[in-house]
Amino acid sequence: MKVFITARIPEEVLAGITLDHAVEIHDEDQPIDRARMLKGVENKDGLLCTITDRIDKEVLERAPGLKVIANNGVGFDHIDIGAATARRIPVTNTPGVLTDETADLTFALILACARRIVEGDRMTREGEFKYWAPLHFLGLKVTGKTLGIVGFGRIGQAVARRARGFDMKVLYHSRTRLDLSQEKHLNVSYMPFDELLREADFVTLHVPLSSSTRRLIGSRELEIMKPSGCLINTARGPVVDEKALVEALRHERIRCAGLDVYENEPELSTGLANLKNAVLLPHIGSATIETRTKMALMAAENLLAGLRGERPPNCVNWPGSL
Ligand code: NAP
Repeated sequence: MKVFITARIPEEVLAGITLDHAVEIHDEDQPIDRARMLKGVENKDGLLCTITDRIDKEVLERAPGLKVIANNGVGFDHIDIGAATARRIPVTNTPGVLTDETADLTFALILACARRIVEGDRMTREGEFKYWAPLHFLGLKVTGKTLGIVGFGRIGQAVARRARGFDMKVLYHSRTRLDLSQEKHLNVSYMPFDELLREADFVTLHVPLSSSTRRLIGSRELEIMKPSGCLINTARGPVVDEKALVEALRHERIRCAGLDVYENEPELSTGLANLKNAVLLPHIGSATIETRTKMALMAAENLLAGLRGERPPNCVNWPGSL
């Protein structure tokens, strides 16, 4: 069958697909442009795409024979799931294998923001480390503080497990509340959203992007947070109103923020890059050698199952009997 792959993937994973299928690949790290995408999917049976590709009705119309869309990532807000389901095309993602990496990176951001790691590194390199002084370069304490987790699925819960090591009090808010025994096991307390924002020293976001989570954090929510509070976003950029965040950071309505994702990625809102109290990463939540290989393997397994007409292992929209 004919397969289109929209970005470079590990050689060994590619080899597993080319064994039985004719593959056309956009063999680059640079995201594919729209015209190339529309041309590439024409007459294809399978599509292996990534989170920077917009898979909408126009793309699906170009590929009437498409049997599966295998996404190389866990978030699938860039795919029109309704349109794919209406065409009985299974869409898959890569859950689980990037949970630890994203939770680790969340903690890296918490520590980097609280202890001013990036600012300190820059200052030291620039020769500005001139003396030690009792009140010099003070940050926030992390150990024993209150962590508020918004979206308590795989990654949110992995962050909670890491917080144990820092003796943190963990509050969570999520669409579905865990049962009491799970809460007890994880040593976490459920909180209404506003209460969590009010009480947490660190608020970290782990919801998927959807109509109910778009701009979940805006000026109202930033106003509710503690002035000493820190916001971490490793979920999706549009979950935060970025302009409102820049304003809040500029006027120190909250103390700091750590971001891995942006509202109009890869562009940053005006002023964000100039703020000393923001730590900014280039969307690297899952970016370890081990995990990116596992993700590509998982996407390939999903793709191959879909091409065989089977239910792929990580299907997010199983459209019934195909
Ligand atoms: P998950 O297991 O599906 O967890 C998401 C959680 O958010 C679920 O508990 C869900 O509730 C909850 N939720 C959904 N809508 C909500 C709402 N409106 N209000 C409150 N809670 C809501 O997903 P995951 O694997 O943890 O991943 C979360 C997101 O992280 C992904 O969707 C992706 O966008 C992002 N991500 C980013 C990176 C990166 O590189 N920075 C890497 C991996 C993932 P239910 O239990 O009711 O469904």
